Amino acid sequence: MEPWIAIPNRSHSQDKYSRKQSTGIPLSSWFQPSARPEVPTWTRWSAPIVWDGTFKTSVLNSYYKQQEITIGLTVFAIGRYLDKYLMDFLVSADVFFMVGHRVIFYIMVDDVAKVPEITLGPQRTLKLFQIKQESRWQDVSMMRMKTIGDLVEECIRYEVDFVFCMDVDQVFQRDYGVEALDESVAQLHAWFYNMQKMSFTYERNPASAAYISYEEGDYYYHGAVFGGTPLQILNLTRQCYQGILRDKEQDMEAIWHDESHLNKYFLLNKPAKLLSPEYCWDYKIGSSSQIHNIKLSWMPKEYKKVRDNS
Ligand code: UDP
Ligand code: MN
Repeated sequence: MEPWIAIPNRSHSQDKYSRKQSTGIPLSSWFQPSARPEVPTWTRWSAPIVWDGTFKTSVLNSYYKQQEITIGLTVFAIGRYLDKYLMDFLVSADVFFMVGHRVIFYIMVDDVAKVPEITLGPQRTLKLFQIKQESRWQDVSMMRMKTIGDLVEECIRYEVDFVFCMDVDQVFQRDYGVEALDESVAQLHAWFYNMQKMSFTYERNPASAAYISYEEGDYYYHGAVFGGTPLQILNLTRQCYQGILRDKEQDMEAIWHDESHLNKYFLLNKPAKLLSPEYCWDYKIGSSSQIHNIKLSWMPKEYKKVRDNS
């Protein structure tokens, strides 16, 4: 896939994907789980759950600054999602996403002419890709797994150390920083973080590749945000896409589409880090004493306006 507009800010000579990445900075130097005793800050498999207040920003920033890292952010804005959400997403990401570090936005659209002109801050580069429109919104959402995988193989792996993949129907509210980086990162779904696994909306049909039984499951992860190193994201997107294809061959579709396959993937491949719902909050839930500083929030859902089929 060739970018329609590309302003690369580093050479392709070093294949960052081929050497194994890790965050490299010991948890003990920056993670302070005791700052939030009222919420769970560790998973069973000893991965940190990052809540507002649990990290030392200056330690992390100076470490990653010294490493001269670049962070990628992929986002899709197809059909009416382009007109409705892309501008606010990008303008807010420019201000709040990984401030002080190099960022490349990978924007996938179906009509480059409709992309708003925005002036990005220093250290920010935008790459625009034109992709074809799928007729069903479910397929737009699911095909992201295929497109992201292709893009990681073709260019992202040469250009960034970490990459996040996000829905466009959300807005950054405050600093969303390097505390969120890790080998593989999953987002706790705002509506489910306090619920029992019996109530999670996993795919429950055993015939689906995304199937998770009522006895299984760790957390319900949100498909609107995931991240990791390029190698991890390549593996994740390939596996999820294979599951989606397997279901299609059997004329099936998992209940929450790519999100169902993502949950299956993270059940089998435990994420290295979890982000609290403060990293993707829905204001419709109302206020909660556990939610301190919201970093990213959902835009109100207006499916009738942005989706053609229901
Ligand atoms: N998307 C898009 N156009 C579409 C459908 C989906 O651009 O017609 C992209 C967009 O980035 C969107 C994401 O796919 O945020 C997931 O869809 P949506 O946000 O509607 O799913 P939900 O958050 O409601 O589960
Ligand atoms: Mn969404």
